[in-house]
Amino acid sequence: MAEEIRATNNFIESFIIEDTAPGGAYEGKKVHTRFPPEPNGYLHIGHAKAMCIDFGMAERFGGICNLRMDDTNPTKEDVEYIDAIKEDIKWLGFDWEDRFYFASEYFEQMYEYAVELIKKGLAYVCELTPEQMRENRGDLSTPAKSPYRDRPAEESLELFERMKNGEFEEGRMTLRAKIDLASGNFSLRDPVIYRINKIHHHRTGDKWCIYPMYDFAHPIEDAIEGITHSLCTLEFEAHRPLYDWVIENITAPAKPRQIEFARLGINNTVMSKRKLRQLVEDGYVNGWDDPRMPTLCGLRRRGYTPASIRNFCEGIGVSKTNSVVEYSFLEHCLRDDLNANAKRVMCVLDPIKLVITNYPEGKTETFEVENNPNKEEDGTRTITFGREVWIESTDFLEEKVKGYNRFYPGNEVRLKSAYIVKCTGCKKDENGKVVEVYAEYDPETRGGDTPDGRKVRGTVHWVDVNNSLDAEVRLYDNLFTDPEPDTGDKNFIDYISPDSLKILKGCKIERSVEGAECPMNYQFMRHGYFCIDKDSSADAMIFNRSVSLKDGFKKK
Ligand code: ATP
Ligand code: MG
Repeated sequence: MAEEIRATNNFIESFIIEDTAPGGAYEGKKVHTRFPPEPNGYLHIGHAKAMCIDFGMAERFGGICNLRMDDTNPTKEDVEYIDAIKEDIKWLGFDWEDRFYFASEYFEQMYEYAVELIKKGLAYVCELTPEQMRENRGDLSTPAKSPYRDRPAEESLELFERMKNGEFEEGRMTLRAKIDLASGNFSLRDPVIYRINKIHHHRTGDKWCIYPMYDFAHPIEDAIEGITHSLCTLEFEAHRPLYDWVIENITAPAKPRQIEFARLGINNTVMSKRKLRQLVEDGYVNGWDDPRMPTLCGLRRRGYTPASIRNFCEGIGVSKTNSVVEYSFLEHCLRDDLNANAKRVMCVLDPIKLVITNYPEGKTETFEVENNPNKEEDGTRTITFGREVWIESTDFLEEKVKGYNRFYPGNEVRLKSAYIVKCTGCKKDENGKVVEVYAEYDPETRGGDTPDGRKVRGTVHWVDVNNSLDAEVRLYDNLFTDPEPDTGDKNFIDYISPDSLKILKGCKIERSVEGAECPMNYQFMRHGYFCIDKDSSADAMIFNRSVSLKDGFKKK
């Protein structure tokens, strides 16, 4: 049934093709996947990869993908996160339609399945404390031990019920699957499948004081929802035999197959929700959507588009080996998208006034300029020009320096799309600081061309003083100075960069952006790609630098 759309299939696709082919385990079945975030933080770019795989595989094979909040661990969950997670998924362009579930909806069934296992002699209540359990875990040559392993099923049934009724303290006992105390795979050494946890759950309240462990709960959630392929990250590979054991030993309504893929890591950032939460809670960043965060809401605020993130995920591919992707590749994907789609405007970040002394006072001229040379259908806009324009203060030097083609006395420079002007000097204040630059324009060069073909090397952007808006511009850089801030025994907090945010005020931007609102991406000519921040307002516009123009990504 699978149609080949790419020259080669990745290993997940190959498995799915195999499974749905005649004679395969899911012959004639619709491919059914799920995306199971734990609502204990905001989604990050690693989750985007997982979504592109979970929703992406369903899409590719004409199947469906559920959204399931994996809320079986009540200690860290928060309702705040649920809406944010849904918003981020929709923003990326994925759709769970009406299949939105909570793992906690299945607590009753999970309990029943545990009872089934006890009755079958495949689970028992163990009274070892967590410390004793650790001490009795054994090693490769010594099996684990539990004196409670062979207690009668009736006794376990009664104790399990009493656990459920809240008769015992936390840690006093657990329910363990009876699998193999000598297994070389430690997750099969009679793993704990239920523990006592007297915690309020955000959805089930105080109804439960025992909660299922992930390895027991997840296969059941998948089976109840009729999932065919349960796609997850590599750290669950060693747990797959346990996943399969649970499915085989309960009267499961379906037999999902777990397939693992590599986690995404990106350098100069951290990716675990716990660490991201620490950055937020300890005030190192301004919230989960701080544009320096690798969260989807942070990237969105930074100016990332859904297409750039999906292209990134497509570009990194699906593999079985964990690796760290260069941050510059993510930036490359954004640049690619914005180069094709962002409107060009002129913005002067560090303004100084250029006075064109031979241009008539009070006169205003207009120029019709392209919005995007890569996208004709985006049309043109009108910009104005007058006797005074803002230029970058770094575009003027009092004396010529080799290789510098911009303003210095005697040099001709092109004001982009307007005129060629010749620098005649400057004015300084009492401290010797340049406060105004002077030039004369050549009226024959309207549009920026020289009729006699003479060469003008430097071209600079500018903004008409009479038609400019003041703006705040926020320049962002890597949040961490170390490419791998959380490897080994490094404390990532020690590597937070002091220069990751620079705020520029009093920048001058052309009036054409007036009234534009977040989200809106621009290319600021010569500077990079910027977007309107969500805190921007009509009379106090704020822009975030998404990415600079220079591509640091080198194809290997
Ligand atoms: P974290 O450590 O960041 O909290 P997690 O795995 O606990 O990550 P979940 O909310 O449980 O986060 O993850 C939901 C899904 O996203 C899972 O299928 C998980 O495997 C996947 N996922 C999480 N992080 C990454 C990542 N860095 N790369 C690829 N997939 C990921
Ligand atoms: Mg988790």
